[in-house]
Amino acid sequence: MEIRGEMLIGRQQIVGTNGAVCAINPANGEKLSPEFGYATNEQVDLACELASQADDSFRYTSLEQRALFLETIAQEIFNIGPALIERAHLETGLPVARLEGERGRTVNQLKLFAKVVRDGDFLSATLDSALPDRVPPRPDLRMQKIALGPVAVFGASNFPLAFSVAGGDTASAFAAGCPVVVKAHNAHPGTSELVGKAIQKAVQTCNLHEGVFSMLIGAGAAVGQHLVSHPAIQAVGFTGSRSGGLSLLRTAQARHVPIPVYAEMSSINPVYLLPDVLENNAESLAKDFIDSLTLGAGQFCTNPGLVFLKKSDAATRFIEAAKVAMAQKAAQTMLTPGIAHAFHQGTEKLKQQITLDVLAEGLPSTTPTGYQAQGMISLCNARDFIANAALQEEVFGPSSVIVMCDDLEQTIAITKLLEGQLTATVHATSADHEAAARLIPVLERKVGRILFNGFPTGVEVCHSMVHGGPFPATSDSRTTSVGATAIDRFLRPVCYQAIPEQLLPSALKNSNEWKLNRLVDGAFSAS
Ligand code: NAP
Repeated sequence: MEIRGEMLIGRQQIVGTNGAVCAINPANGEKLSPEFGYATNEQVDLACELASQADDSFRYTSLEQRALFLETIAQEIFNIGPALIERAHLETGLPVARLEGERGRTVNQLKLFAKVVRDGDFLSATLDSALPDRVPPRPDLRMQKIALGPVAVFGASNFPLAFSVAGGDTASAFAAGCPVVVKAHNAHPGTSELVGKAIQKAVQTCNLHEGVFSMLIGAGAAVGQHLVSHPAIQAVGFTGSRSGGLSLLRTAQARHVPIPVYAEMSSINPVYLLPDVLENNAESLAKDFIDSLTLGAGQFCTNPGLVFLKKSDAATRFIEAAKVAMAQKAAQTMLTPGIAHAFHQGTEKLKQQITLDVLAEGLPSTTPTGYQAQGMISLCNARDFIANAALQEEVFGPSSVIVMCDDLEQTIAITKLLEGQLTATVHATSADHEAAARLIPVLERKVGRILFNGFPTGVEVCHSMVHGGPFPATSDSRTTSVGATAIDRFLRPVCYQAIPEQLLPSALKNSNEWKLNRLVDGAFSAS
């Protein structure tokens, strides 16, 4: 499929005329053709108005129709073939094998949401029978969740497939019954065009209203802001920087009708190495930590950017082994010139902190572009860490700060002062369980996912996953952007009181034609 520099507005494929951008190949710094024209405000308005027109017909599609739509998108993405992986590789510098895995994850995510839709549990269909003889009488009351309406999606730079045009935000919004308008990420516009056209084709194949999907090209500060300001938009899904997420949150709250923004932003993902596990496994833990830290040039929102240890000989052994492992790590190409620049600025700032010792850096860059990241680990003591907010800032890439603590009390005290995080990782043997039991209640208040004896990079897409957490990990700690319950972000409950059977929505009719497992008078029933 040829890439033409087009954005997609309903069934149209249009080259914008309001300025233009080319993707940059971060491996060599060269521009990739073609140019992608930016949308005008009128084109943003048109996409939003079409989404508004599609809203009712799309949210009233049957569960089966919507599940088939999600599966058709999955198939169309596969049908693009190797061209998708080749373009994503050129635009992001991510290895082909990683991108093939990510395509599989994207397709499986769409299929998971198809299953979620068919199961229908997300509707939370609930019936309370009328009690006419009660004093006072109770009317017939029924509740289901309905789609919020058109959703604006801002894809992530670091997952050009699984968290971009047809990624988790789009899949969960479609599953809920919401039309989607994507603001494509300028780091991978060609990949976005290919995937966007796959969705556009699926809209046609499934005979849906053209406004169910549009994809705009443009600068966030102009097109993105105008999109979120448009009255048709009812919610926002975003993955990216703290400043970008907060800016969209402010815009959404300043609207005449404020709307929710589900922004996933910044996290340094603390790792706790408890004393007995460290005593027994210092060297292997050090190697696994450096592998996790440098995976994908550290460009994961769950990258382990902070490690807590208790002073001991084992802690010294861990540090020595981590230094050796880091010193052997090759520099890796980062996703964009901007992300590479931000990483270099972040590590330079760390180097200037007088209370922080740089322990080791990876091998130097092998290209003249300046877009490679050389990994870095550094060390400070607990008191200095608490005293210096700069050490808590996310440095997006392969950089981690190791904090040496005196004891568990101090570790817990510092943890209470941390900002909200996506994950916390505890390494422990059974001899450490007493300490872990004291840590877990503190971590529950700080993070969305607590994991044991592993590393946080790698986020399973399944029913129980939580990829969320308190601010600034996300803008709304009650939600997740990965996994089946991501759909809840785009739903709201409606109660139907004394509504005649023939006027009730399908999910709430006595016949229960979709065979939903409903809460009827306080007990679950599929009849
Ligand atoms: P970004 O700069 O926040 O951009 C993400 C998307 O939001 C882009 O489409 C961008 O459009 C748009 N945007 C940014 N600021 C905006 C604003 N004020 N108003 C409207 N739209 C706006 O993020 P990025 O380019 O992906 O990466 C930069 C940084 O984000 C990284 O260094 C890292 O700190 C963080 N990041 C975090 C995660 C995570 O999962 N937590 C993932 C990736 C990146 P334009 O590019 O046109 O501005």
